[in-house]
Amino acid sequence: MSDLIKTLCPYCGVGCGLEVSPPAQANRETNRDSKGNPVWKVRGDRAHPSSQGMVCVKGATVTESISKDRLMYPMMRDSLDEPFRRASWDEALNAIASRIKTVRDTSGADAICLYGSGQFLTEDYYLAQKLFKGILGTNNFDTNSRLCMSSATAGYYYSLGSDGPPCCYEDLELTDCAFIIGSNAAECHPIIFNRLRKHHKQNKNVKMIVVDPRRTTTAEAADLHLAIRPGTDIDLLNGIGYLLLRWNRLNIEFIDECTTGFPSYTEVIQHYPPEVVSERCGISIHDLITAAKAWAESKRVLSMWTMGLNQSSEGTAKVCSLINLHLMTGQIGFPGSGPFSLTGQPNAMGGREVGGLAHLLPGYRLVKNEQHRTEVEQFWGLQPGQISPVPGRSAWEIITGLEIGEVEFLWIAATNPAVSMPDLERTKAALKTSPFTVYQDAYYPTETAEFAHVLLPAAQWGEKTGTMTNSERVVTLCPAFRPPVGQARADWEIFAEVGRRLGFAEQFAFTSSAEVYAEFVQLTRDRVCEQTGISHARLAAQGPIQWPEPDKKELQSLPKAVKRLYTNFRFSTPDGRARFVAHHSRGLAEPPDPDYPFVLTTGRLYGHWHTQTRTGRIEKICQMHPNPFIEIHPRDATKLGIQENDLLEVRSRRGTSRFPAKVTKTISPGTVFVPIHWGFLWADKAEANALTHPVSCPQSLQPELKACAVQLVPV
Ligand code: SF4
Repeated sequence: MSDLIKTLCPYCGVGCGLEVSPPAQANRETNRDSKGNPVWKVRGDRAHPSSQGMVCVKGATVTESISKDRLMYPMMRDSLDEPFRRASWDEALNAIASRIKTVRDTSGADAICLYGSGQFLTEDYYLAQKLFKGILGTNNFDTNSRLCMSSATAGYYYSLGSDGPPCCYEDLELTDCAFIIGSNAAECHPIIFNRLRKHHKQNKNVKMIVVDPRRTTTAEAADLHLAIRPGTDIDLLNGIGYLLLRWNRLNIEFIDECTTGFPSYTEVIQHYPPEVVSERCGISIHDLITAAKAWAESKRVLSMWTMGLNQSSEGTAKVCSLINLHLMTGQIGFPGSGPFSLTGQPNAMGGREVGGLAHLLPGYRLVKNEQHRTEVEQFWGLQPGQISPVPGRSAWEIITGLEIGEVEFLWIAATNPAVSMPDLERTKAALKTSPFTVYQDAYYPTETAEFAHVLLPAAQWGEKTGTMTNSERVVTLCPAFRPPVGQARADWEIFAEVGRRLGFAEQFAFTSSAEVYAEFVQLTRDRVCEQTGISHARLAAQGPIQWPEPDKKELQSLPKAVKRLYTNFRFSTPDGRARFVAHHSRGLAEPPDPDYPFVLTTGRLYGHWHTQTRTGRIEKICQMHPNPFIEIHPRDATKLGIQENDLLEVRSRRGTSRFPAKVTKTISPGTVFVPIHWGFLWADKAEANALTHPVSCPQSLQPELKACAVQLVPV
């Protein structure tokens, strides 16, 4: 094995290239962490087209976590009251296969669920998909991308006819106006933001507008910060549309030739005049007009968003409302412009390509589409009708399925729902009722392990080979650079082994992840996300490749060519036209009221990642962010009689948590903010999601994790 390994950062969807090397032989004894584990060296890969050598603190320290607190071998127990006992792989896998057969024979395949992760490699996703949606005949395979990007997926589908971000990172340096809404990119997607900030600083004519209830680090860098009230995004977006219409700053040719639905859209936005929008959003008319003028006067507008739009009970409507602005101005399909969702997890994009949500099939196909099901059935050699036409349970529907006894077998892999799901007391109570839960993860202990009957040790990043796709559709090979610890195995190997034990040896006769990927890409043929021209061998030889990348030689790109979608202004809808999808604003699912007068909003910090299974084990990051906290405006702090670091009890209709106060003007009066990273293993009663609610977007089924009503009580 070469000493220098090129791979991809396993944290966020920016997808920065890394170079990893073992400690030099001479330093192997000294280059160890405080627990004596050897630390592999890591640096940015200057040759990676997406990141050009840049990394943030997470990527720079990632190797420090790979040996710590690992689950070394399978463990089992008969009930949650018992301690785990060590088990062999044979014993654990036979128990899983046997239980799956029993549940399928007695209650049907839909009583079996898999809840996976955007941390999966594409190959992991693909075999999980084939096992559940193909062989077992249930679409109950959802992932934590449901909590993250499913509104973006749905928004792209409704507006453009297919999932798939049209833009690429080069657009960050070509835009005239960056419109960032519901994203603290400076902390959550720092390398993307660094590229944008540099372009913004070097070009005085380039505008940056940030829409966020908090004055985040991202907002600090903007020319205009619109601190709208939580839940008023659609009011703002429709209000900008109203002004563009009134000023006649439309691209009529594009609207006429490339879109449908514009008349209905104008009907809706006429209800959003500036005085109404200003009042609802809590911003000045002047600032609203400034934002609308930026859209009207810029030749190239690039919009970017993440959880602030997606994690909402009207998440899809928000995404469509943003895309509507691109359609009315024709700002899509050319350099420097377009709607660009910033993906949360490292391979949530790859997961969407493979169909890693309960309503999807590989190649951006839909479970509900008969032709799509037929295509996949034929490819997998299944009987006609073997793939169910009914979308499977979404993440939250798995929890409600446990509550009513309809889920009898739950398999959780590479995610930590006992911290990340909404309404955590209810989630944990439901997990406790599960008759049989398999938990497959690299680390132990984790919060979710407490709810499992079987623990399977998973190889993690650096211990298995496979691919990941980042936010700009670049596929990178991530090779194993060290053997798995203990008895850990790659997720795809575990899914294949269970498939074989269920009697499907031929369908799961893979001997390498390269073979798995080679099979998957055939299902992308002639789809928006075509990757038939990509293979592990080609990625290893040429480096990362952006899709679409067909195997037709005359269409195949040079390795580093930059591609955008819809450059011919033909979209993925049946008639090739993009759709105006107009929505009125409904606001928060749980607005503040006299009993719960504050809006709680949640988010991430620069250093930590999700539920800390990795970053909580990295000293430098724990020193950066040692404790949870609640941001509160000085005016509210004064009213409550509290000062910096005083403990505040935060109560919602579902639960209670406690946080030290951080008194700051970065948050608006009436709103408070807490980070999402602390589960019950890391702090006492500081779980953000003990407070949040599960009311979800009707189209994307993504819960409104971003906002709920709370009361604050000084302790
Ligand atoms: Fe990793 Fe994201 Fe940081 Fe890049 S920006 S190094 S992908 S966490």
